[in-house]
Amino acid sequence: MGNTAKYHNWVALPLRTVTLDGPPFSVPRYLHLELGRQTQRSVARFRLHSHALRVETRCWEHHDGTCDKCGLQAIQDEKQALSLCRCTQMCSLRLQYADLFHYLPMAHKITVNQTGAFYFSQACSEDVFNFFQKQTNDNPIVLFQSLWRLF
Ligand SMILES: [Zn+2]
Repeated sequence: MGNTAKYHNWVALPLRTVTLDGPPFSVPRYLHLELGRQTQRSVARFRLHSHALRVETRCWEHHDGTCDKCGLQAIQDEKQALSLCRCTQMCSLRLQYADLFHYLPMAHKITVNQTGAFYFSQACSEDVFNFFQKQTNDNPIVLFQSLWRLF
């Protein structure tokens, strides 16, 4: 999936029909929060594919883009890093911010150890979209600052 298609399927704000009731889009709650400059930057990097995940670095580092953090042999992209990657650090990070993942299907949640660290066995574009669009809590997406330290 190209970056333009990923942007539109995963993080773009969906437009609705223009009505008198309000704007033709719904802005996710986290975009209204005072996140701080570093967190805003981290979230923007994820949304705009401006990062060092292997799906991007394969263009200039000459590798196949598969994840080097786990043995999954899947392309390390935003969906894989956020939901599917089985590396211990990322599973623990998901546990630390577990309240951010409750929009993903719990039927696919796999717990890896007694701490409760987890990954998801499956994820689709809709899951990434829901992760961004449906966050309602006041604990903003600070997960991304830690995520960029791992990847
Ligand atoms: Zn991985």
